[in-house]
Amino acid sequence: MEHIIEKQREIPIIARPDVLVAGGGPAGIGAAIAAARSGVKTMLIERYGFPGGNLTTAMVNPFFTFHDENGNQVIRGIAEEFVDRMKQGGASLGHVADLTFDNASMTPFDAERAKIILIEMLEEAGVELLFHTWIVDANVANGVVGSVIIENKSGRQAICPKYIVDCTGDADVAAFSGVPFAKGKDEDGSMQPATLYFRVGGADVEQLRNWMKKNRNILKDSPSDEQIDKQKAIAFLGMNQMVQEAKDSGMLHSEVAPRILMYELPIPGVFCVNTTRIQNIDGTKTADITRAEVALRKQVLEVHAFLQKYIGGFESSYILDSGIQVGIRETRRIAGDYVLTEQEVLNSASFEDGIACGTFAIDIHPPHGKKQIFTGSGKSVYEIPYRCLIPKNLKNLLVAGRPISATHIAHGSIRVMATCTAMGQAAGVAVAMACHNKCGTREINIKQLRKELVEQGQYLLNENIGEMVDPDLILDSENSDGRQAEHYNPFRTKK
Ligand SMILES: Cc1cc2nc3c(=O)[nH]c(=O)nc-3n(C[C@H](O)[C@H](O)[C@H](O)COP(=O)(O)OP(=O)(O)OC[C@H]3O[C@@H](n4cnc5c(N)ncnc54)[C@H](O)[C@@H]3O)c2cc1C
Repeated sequence: MEHIIEKQREIPIIARPDVLVAGGGPAGIGAAIAAARSGVKTMLIERYGFPGGNLTTAMVNPFFTFHDENGNQVIRGIAEEFVDRMKQGGASLGHVADLTFDNASMTPFDAERAKIILIEMLEEAGVELLFHTWIVDANVANGVVGSVIIENKSGRQAICPKYIVDCTGDADVAAFSGVPFAKGKDEDGSMQPATLYFRVGGADVEQLRNWMKKNRNILKDSPSDEQIDKQKAIAFLGMNQMVQEAKDSGMLHSEVAPRILMYELPIPGVFCVNTTRIQNIDGTKTADITRAEVALRKQVLEVHAFLQKYIGGFESSYILDSGIQVGIRETRRIAGDYVLTEQEVLNSASFEDGIACGTFAIDIHPPHGKKQIFTGSGKSVYEIPYRCLIPKNLKNLLVAGRPISATHIAHGSIRVMATCTAMGQAAGVAVAMACHNKCGTREINIKQLRKELVEQGQYLLNENIGEMVDPDLILDSENSDGRQAEHYNPFRTKK
């Protein structure tokens, strides 16, 4: 490829924090709050003007998933504090049953108010915030990332932290530091498709419930009247045949997801819609993201026209807004000291260095073709080992959130926002411990880390932690085979 040599120049070092958290998504929020609360000088850098990552910028909703199939809450800690704050501020109803999608719980929220609540939580913890800033490079010597280079309106600058938690979702800092990584499926590197969420206002919820009762057969699992009435917030999934017909007639683009999936939000008459879709996008390539933005913004109009035409209660609805960027489900996965596998996810593995639990389904939207893998949530509760957060060859960098060291299939479960927040919290506590002890991230006392997390209210396996069961969330029906949603569970054992 043609190239030029950039001119060498001096750039100012603008900060020397103990801990730099790169990226303010679910993982970054957990990491920054936890590190700052542990008494170390913590700085958070985020490329947008507010925190939240996919939770706010991509408008991903609902928060998944805090409970196992018995209604026991297995993700607590900072993620739960955030939900409590949202409940107090009227930004969320809290955890509600999601019978339609086989999840033990879902937690819909108002992303706009979530932004402010997150800023308040970060400020209260004492995190120094630097928004509108991209991390664009890193310098490594002797296994230590000594500085990161940033770009923003004030120009090009450097930050020299003692420790870094990479929560960019794409493992940008790790990649700039030369950490090896994988992308997508082993055989061809293909990754899950991108989706642009949008919100619809002006829906008539009572009319929708009546329409769902009359049209239950085209919805997943044909929900009963009782199930439809019982849903505190509606989770709507199905209409596969009608979506296919709309594609055949040219009303919907052929790449649109094969079903309508949308969630009622805690704002009267407002739903978020997760139905646009485009495959073959690499979220670390700007040309690909641009292609996704162009295609999916057009799909938003088509999908909304479909909702208006075919779903009762949506006739007078309107598009309220859409994510400020397309949602990227999958990019890099770092090579870490340990690789979490799908067998461990499905078999409820626990680890001596387990630092966060996950209980969401393995949920892989088709990288190509049509088969979506979905194993059903809340069945297994597994732990994520601390070693999955430690990139090979580096002593002062942890990676938390979506890009940890896991297989492509295990990634299909660990990627959800509650799990990422829990991982971030653990990473924040870990780097603070390393900072206090002046040691590398591998040298901290793991028992002490687990103890500290439990004292902070986090749930871990094998620690005799009391159950927090919400009886309203217990799944009382066997998961269906998901046919209406075109889900496929390759791991399901036939009875
Ligand atoms: C379409 C879609 C639907 C999904 N559905 C659900 C769902 O229903 N429920 C659920 O719980 N999860 C869902 N997920 C998964 C979930 O949203 C993500 O996996 C999760 O947000 C990952 O969290 P994270 O903190 O690792 O990364 P992110 O949320 O991606 O946050 C990364 C942050 O880092 C910032 N950043 C990135 N690079 C840089 C850089 N170089 N410099 C500075 N800042 C940077 C970004 O701006 C962002 O704020 C969905 C994801 C998608 C895309």
